[in-house]
Amino acid sequence: MPEFFRTGFFRSIAFRLTVWYAGIFSISSCVAFGLFYFLATQTIMNQVDQELMDKAGYFRTIISRSGIVGAQNLAVIEAQAAGEKQVFFRLLYPTGEVFASSSMSYWKDVRLDKKMVDRLMKSRVTVFNTLHIAGQEQNARMMYTFVASNVILHTGLAMNAYSRFLSGFKKIFSISMGFVILFSAVSGMFLSRQALYGVSAIRATASTITGSNLDERVPESGSQDELDLLAVTFNRMLDRISALVKSMREMSDNIAHDLKSPLTRIRGFAELALIQETPGDIESYRTMAANTIEESDHLLDMINTMLVISRAEAGEAEFECAPVDLSAMIIDAWDLFVPLAEDKQITFTQQVDKGVCIQGDAGMLQRAFANLIDNAIKYTPEKGSVHLTLQTCGKALVEIGVKDSGPGIDPQNYQKIFERFFREESSRTTPGTGLGLSLAKTIIEQHSGTISVQPCENGGSIFIVTLPHRNFEII
Ligand code: ADP
Repeated sequence: MPEFFRTGFFRSIAFRLTVWYAGIFSISSCVAFGLFYFLATQTIMNQVDQELMDKAGYFRTIISRSGIVGAQNLAVIEAQAAGEKQVFFRLLYPTGEVFASSSMSYWKDVRLDKKMVDRLMKSRVTVFNTLHIAGQEQNARMMYTFVASNVILHTGLAMNAYSRFLSGFKKIFSISMGFVILFSAVSGMFLSRQALYGVSAIRATASTITGSNLDERVPESGSQDELDLLAVTFNRMLDRISALVKSMREMSDNIAHDLKSPLTRIRGFAELALIQETPGDIESYRTMAANTIEESDHLLDMINTMLVISRAEAGEAEFECAPVDLSAMIIDAWDLFVPLAEDKQITFTQQVDKGVCIQGDAGMLQRAFANLIDNAIKYTPEKGSVHLTLQTCGKALVEIGVKDSGPGIDPQNYQKIFERFFREESSRTTPGTGLGLSLAKTIIEQHSGTISVQPCENGGSIFIVTLPHRNFEII
């Protein structure tokens, strides 16, 4: 069996397109031929009917001039002139009694049709019908008409020339239909294969892509047609997947790295407890237990933060939506961090508009602002300054600023610092997890707000948060 039959050719789109193409092409050709055949038949019939009516016209003229005898002679002469196998004439009374006719030896099987005579009698309008003459294997056109008030002419005309034309036409039609179907199937297959070539290329590339190889790309023709656009979209999708896989790898490396240090420390404390030489020293056990709890809390905190971020990103986090006095929240946060700032002799100031309220999750918002303030104090050297602001921008927005005189952030990392586990090289010596800003961003975005960082004139940085403002008072 040829290869493409075995590879499911009959189930392929190429095969279905070929069948559709051949089907539509053949049906259209059939309709066109049929229409032409119908029109040709109609024209021929009209021509024949006209010929018969012309002959009836002669009979009327002759009867009006020479009476019935003239018509009797005309029947014989006309039939002989045209050929007795070609035409016949029968003259009869309305009673059906035939009183004259041309030679009927060739037409002996053609009987008088009573029904046609009755129809003529009723309507007095010329009637026609087509008969198949069994012996002669041909059709003849019959006409019944009045040629005088009480004389009916029954005449018939052999249609062998026309029949030959029409049967020749039918033969040509059948042969050409065979060619049309063959041609349309071949060209349909060729066209569908051409059209689907791009799809095969995409399929081939997709099948070579594995988890470890995301570098393959589908060739783009640049023609901007549907397949080229599909290839472009497919490649863009691969770019995104590849970036995503890369960031997931980086993230899992970071998680492993960040879990490793506290776990190593916890293990160290446990080992120390085991090899402790003076087992009675309860105080040192306490210290080791406290250290273990602290490290474990740090780990739990990190894991919880990761969970909050990923749940929020997946739209699964349940954030409260209650009125929050943002002014009071920022002042409280400032209060909370004043001792930390004092430890580093940092000038910690605030300028907060009173009574600014929003709708949201107070606990989550506190965590977001605490992370920003904690970072500002953490990365600002001793004797530096940190300044908090809260102000309304128009009626719809609230803006919160956390400005510091720290080392600033490399502009290249303005976006990256909001990614999970990203830490600038210069910050590696400062304790941290790289999750604080990522959590803050997630929380702010869950409140339909934005967060960004900008450089400051004093070399530090300012984190700006905007949130939708709700103008109401909290009682
Ligand atoms: P970390 O636990 O490392 O502070 P964050 O997500 O809070 O994690 O911050 C990510 C990185 O952004 C930090 O490691 C630091 O490099 C940089 N960063 C954040 N805030 C500041 C700031 N106020 N000044 C300078 N660098 C900052």
